[in-house]
Amino acid sequence: MSVLEIKNLHVNVETEQGTREILRGVDLVINEGEIHAIMGPNGSGKSTLAYTIAGHPKYQVVEGEILLDGENVLEMSVDERARAGVFLAMQYPVEIPGVTVTNFLRTAKTAIDGEAPAIRGWIKDVRESMSNLKMDSAFAERNVNEGFSGGEKKRNEILQLELLKPKFAVLDETDSGLDVDALKIVSEGVNRAHANTGLGVLLITHYTRILRYIKPDFVHVFVAGRIAEQGGAELADRLEEEGYDRYQVAESAAE
Ligand code: ADP
Ligand code: MG
Ligand code: MG
Repeated sequence: MSVLEIKNLHVNVETEQGTREILRGVDLVINEGEIHAIMGPNGSGKSTLAYTIAGHPKYQVVEGEILLDGENVLEMSVDERARAGVFLAMQYPVEIPGVTVTNFLRTAKTAIDGEAPAIRGWIKDVRESMSNLKMDSAFAERNVNEGFSGGEKKRNEILQLELLKPKFAVLDETDSGLDVDALKIVSEGVNRAHANTGLGVLLITHYTRILRYIKPDFVHVFVAGRIAEQGGAELADRLEEEGYDRYQVAESAAE
């Protein structure tokens, strides 16, 4: 039984105006096979949390812990985290000129598994995942994300998720900018990985729309760098009606 634990996480970032504390004590436990939604307004620190889990060097952990099955994730390099089973689908996937999708996937798979995948099974898996995600096979020979539409970039993130088979996936606003058809396809990809491999999911989103397709076990409201409230799926329905204003008022009154 795998578990990803975040304990009292405080994270700073250096800005031109000086040091800013972005995360202010985040506590979160995700067990194997659980789906946790993090919902919050823009600028509340959701991407900072995602990048900190993945190991982005800009984000300095000043207090707290991240543990994967008891191992200290904060001592691991970015690639060690990936090998340990942590995956990040980025809010803004980056273009990699000169590297084809095929080469990228095979290189990543080889790095993560410690050996190259057997070629026939691998080609079959890639084709199957691309077809599941309704990606034209021509994408395989295109450079990663170069000239991809927003929806194609997000599908390409989920393609990696399906093929790399992590234990835990952080999905940073994978839903933003998707039309309904693409949203369904991407959600089905996440649900497949969840059903087939017991993937634990940290689903970061601004909107409740994706939660119609991916059913969360827990919903956390994220405001000003910490979890302001948590509940079950019903909390998302309340947010849909009431928005985040209530929490913002509570935050500013506390300052
Ligand atoms: P969210 O994803 O919830 O919209 P972010 O984590 O992107 O929030 O940002 C939270 C706050 O931290 C924002 O005020 C943002 O400007 C600031 N921030 C995040 N990353 C950086 C960075 N690399 N440099 C400076 N400020 C940053
Ligand atoms: Mg945002
Ligand atoms: Mg963000």
